[in-house]
Amino acid sequence: MPNQNIPKKILHWYDNNKRTLPWRKKVSKSKREYFTLISEFMLQQTQVKTVVPYFENFVKNFPNLQSLAKSSDQKILKNWEGLGYYSRVRNLKKTAILLLKEFNGKLPKEIEKLKSLPGIGEYTSRSILAIAHNKPYIPMDGNVERILKRVFLLKTNNEISKENLSKKKSFFGFSKRSSDYAQAIMEIGALICKPSLPSCIHCPLTENCKAFRRKDFIINSKNKFSKTKYFQANVSKYKNEYLLTKNKKFNFLKNLVIFPMEEIDEKKFKNSVQKKINIKMSNMNMKIIINENTKINKTNNSIFLNKKNINKYILPSFTKKIFNSVS
Ligand code: SF4
Repeated sequence: MPNQNIPKKILHWYDNNKRTLPWRKKVSKSKREYFTLISEFMLQQTQVKTVVPYFENFVKNFPNLQSLAKSSDQKILKNWEGLGYYSRVRNLKKTAILLLKEFNGKLPKEIEKLKSLPGIGEYTSRSILAIAHNKPYIPMDGNVERILKRVFLLKTNNEISKENLSKKKSFFGFSKRSSDYAQAIMEIGALICKPSLPSCIHCPLTENCKAFRRKDFIINSKNKFSKTKYFQANVSKYKNEYLLTKNKKFNFLKNLVIFPMEEIDEKKFKNSVQKKINIKMSNMNMKIIINENTKINKTNNSIFLNKKNINKYILPSFTKKIFNSVS
């Protein structure tokens, strides 16, 4: 039986401490659905403070589903540029079109219907149901997981398995204010129960928390897939213009332009005396040799780009980083 005091304590904390975020503004029901959709797509893989200016700009330029659905991909991508994971915004546009066509411009209230829309999976469907429709869901993000691991002092692989964490979620119980409640729990994880140094003195859960009692805040996590890969970026210049190519190599950057790249082995990377850069992606650490002054090798997918004009194009941040490292 969940402790009824928990929602009370958490919501009391939230009412006094929540951040003012643009998607939390008091707006009409349909605007709230739209704001939730946009912010939840942006927040997949990206932190709140990065998302805020993008969100504000995006809803100014695309104030509703209609304007998003009928805008060109080019214009939408330009407004997403720098947020990364561009498949999200392509899916967002497809979802906007489907919502208008098949759901009367409204976000469905059934989880399976939500999950049938492009870019909406387990987590985002639950967030939408809780935040936009005030349904009693608590989406399990990294913040919620961390709180549970500390409250119950979960350490072993079994204890931190998805199944066990889902069971432990009953600790939170439910509130009639489902929308605020889901956001409140995530907010405690983001602002108070932080990964490296929790600020327990401000936390409403100290009485319930084993980590607090034992002063053991170390979080165990299952090893995430993250490895180092080595590449050579071939940089060729012709009359101040650089040769780039439409990406067919990395799934997450579909059709964006990159410098021609080839994967190399660690030995070649280490022995090279050329300029090197390091780029951290969410699932891979990319170590790249910048191989300047290579022969022009034009293909159907090639384009020439003047460094002065890079801000006019939609470029992945690592293409920009390579641009900034070449003369
Ligand atoms: S008391 Fe401390 S460790 Fe426990 S949930 Fe709160 S912030 Fe996290």
